[in-house]
Amino acid sequence: MNYLSDLFHLFFPKLCITCNTKLLQYEKLVCTLCRHDLPIICYNNYKDNKIKSAFWGRIPIEMANSFLFYREIGKTKRLIHQLKYKGNQEIGVFIGDWFGYLLKSSEKLTNIDYIVPVPLHPKKLKKRGYNQLTTFGNRLTYHLQTTYKPKILIRTSASKTQTFKQRFERFNNNDTKFLLTDHSIFKDKHILLIDDVITTGATLESCCKELLKTNNIKISVVTMAYTE
Ligand SMILES: [Zn+2]
Repeated sequence: MNYLSDLFHLFFPKLCITCNTKLLQYEKLVCTLCRHDLPIICYNNYKDNKIKSAFWGRIPIEMANSFLFYREIGKTKRLIHQLKYKGNQEIGVFIGDWFGYLLKSSEKLTNIDYIVPVPLHPKKLKKRGYNQLTTFGNRLTYHLQTTYKPKILIRTSASKTQTFKQRFERFNNNDTKFLLTDHSIFKDKHILLIDDVITTGATLESCCKELLKTNNIKISVVTMAYTE
């Protein structure tokens, strides 16, 4: 079997996702050099950092953190692109395991009751076939020893028959609508909301606004990447 797999590897070498060089047999997805070169953030201070400050004056967030810096050119962009558009869900496992280990080691997110992903619109989910946060969320859930709740927060769409006025208002609010289908589950709970890349924080803010309709809910946020 080993011989066959060696032979296969010889003719169909696996390539590093971020630099395209041939992976050595013990390497997976990302080569050792690139792993050392990833722009890791993971702040030590979960309560006062750039990611949390993105929400200041908008919504109350307990703690926030991100794993990687996202730039227009670079390794993070390649990873996220492959994960979101090329079906490579193993990247979610890769990031989730690494980040999950760091989050667990910090002992700051020890009281999370549920991990909730930013939901995809059902049409997008159908087209893509998966939510890019699923494998990431599952690995974080494993490391933080908590529970993954992917289906309670949903993304709703505006009706096709909406009037121009409604459309205008929607555009004006710049607000994708999210709906929490069961508020009782999150009552008195600490939710860790997860997403891929945080830029303006508008999507996460919309999610939080809906979640905050729940009594005595606490929300923390972590994302795979952060862009300034
Ligand atoms: Zn590489």
